[in-house]
Amino acid sequence: MRDVSASSQPTPEEFQRRLNDLMRNLQVPPPSTSGAQSGFDRSAESPSGDATEPVLQFERKPRDVKAHLDRFVIQQDEAKKVLSVALCDHYHAVQAALAGKAMPNYTKQNIILLGPTGVGKTYLVRSMADLIGVPFVKADATKFSETGYVGGDVEDIVRELVRRADGNIARAQHGIIYIDEIDKLASATNSSGRDVSGRGVQTNLLKLMEETEVPARSPQDMAAQIQAMMETQRGGKKGPATINTKHILFVVSGAFDGLDKIVRKRLREATIGFAAKPHSAADAISVLGDTQTRDFIDFGFEPEFIGRLPVRVVCQPLAVNDLFHILKTSEGSIIRQYEQDFAAYGIEVLFHDDGLRRIAERAGEERTGARGLMTVSERVLRDFKFELPSTHVKRFVVTRELVDQPAAGLKQLLAEHANEERVVMRQLVHDYGERFAKEHFLTLRFTDAAADALIAEALEKQLSVRDLCGQKFKDFQFGLKLIAGNTGRKEFTLDADAVAAPENVLSEWVVASYRKES
Ligand code: ADP
Repeated sequence: MRDVSASSQPTPEEFQRRLNDLMRNLQVPPPSTSGAQSGFDRSAESPSGDATEPVLQFERKPRDVKAHLDRFVIQQDEAKKVLSVALCDHYHAVQAALAGKAMPNYTKQNIILLGPTGVGKTYLVRSMADLIGVPFVKADATKFSETGYVGGDVEDIVRELVRRADGNIARAQHGIIYIDEIDKLASATNSSGRDVSGRGVQTNLLKLMEETEVPARSPQDMAAQIQAMMETQRGGKKGPATINTKHILFVVSGAFDGLDKIVRKRLREATIGFAAKPHSAADAISVLGDTQTRDFIDFGFEPEFIGRLPVRVVCQPLAVNDLFHILKTSEGSIIRQYEQDFAAYGIEVLFHDDGLRRIAERAGEERTGARGLMTVSERVLRDFKFELPSTHVKRFVVTRELVDQPAAGLKQLLAEHANEERVVMRQLVHDYGERFAKEHFLTLRFTDAAADALIAEALEKQLSVRDLCGQKFKDFQFGLKLIAGNTGRKEFTLDADAVAAPENVLSEWVVASYRKES
């Protein structure tokens, strides 16, 4: 029995020993890695800027980066250009700094992306990170709180970047952090008139964007802290690892509803006294292209915060035609995903252009940008994905009609297939008759009604047509030979009654043949 009495308090040494045993038995994994990342490379956990850090290999030009983006992201030409330049500048600067040739007073090219939801903001940045092979992590600004006790701590996202870099802190230190819904941090200040969490989170994020050392293990994660303590004990010297944020690229994004009004107001004031009224008729998005730092401040951002985000990019809303092209030509099109999903069941799906266009039109009505494409496609193809793998349907075409009436389309497809199957089954019934004739020199015919009855029974009992006929008519060769001997008759036709009660019909025929003979 284990001693659980509270009276015998362990000494600190005893407590440490027991804790060590416990942890060893539990085999607690390093908290910042998942099971898949068991090859956690401790040698990479060096503070920033020392000689053990692998040098970043970056030799791209803005045009190459844009060409890569063009393969995946439709439209957003201006955004692609600005992002390509900012990305190249950033990684050239990081490379120079890592080689000990840092430019004094270099401003990091952190980015604000403005634009409605689902137009490719995240997709652009994620595709760039994939291209250059740096870790990428996305978070939602509304999930953070100033203290980190409610919701998340902004530093968690830096630690998440390490996880995405398979525990390699050196790689994480030049990764990309993407924070969406950044506009909500400003609105929080605006709407209440007092400082709620928004300003505090801005301040915390600002520290990360400038330069700070983030502990690789969260101070609020007890298991991580115990783990760190034990590792320090076991390994001796090395202190807890930290992540330096100096070379991490920050991209923040949001829809910034209402910012256009602020910009418009400033532009109006600037043109008082002049006849021209630029942008008076312009839509909200093109007005956002004129946003200046003071507009962001009026919107509710701290000047220092906005000052750390020098690159500003506006992403345009997507028209139906753009949505069509996303489906048709983007290398990341969800259509390819559907093709693969069906192919896993040996089913080929062909999307006609009119079907794709109809999906795009309906997605446009959702007003969620390209996200609507997924919503609509899922709605249209959900039942096909469920039903078809259990049928013999091997191919189908997605047309405009099918997108409009998926249930009817599926029904028709299954009915057509059932018809095709019926034709083959009928042939199988007649084939049985022909084989019978070859074996027994007696002609056996089936009326259409008999064939249909056999098909229905085969489907119901899930038997093959040949097996069913074999079972039903197993005695017919003997009976019919008797009849042939008695009467000389060599041809027989089976009708629906013969299918329903074959033995009765056969014995009636046999009895009758004796009568005829006498
Ligand atoms: P947001 O602008 O809200 O960040 P995302 O970039 O996350 O939107 O877009 C959601 C998905 O829609 C992407 O993963 C991508 O599949 C698709 N998508 C969005 N915009 C485009 C685009 N311009 N070109 C191609 N695909 C796009």
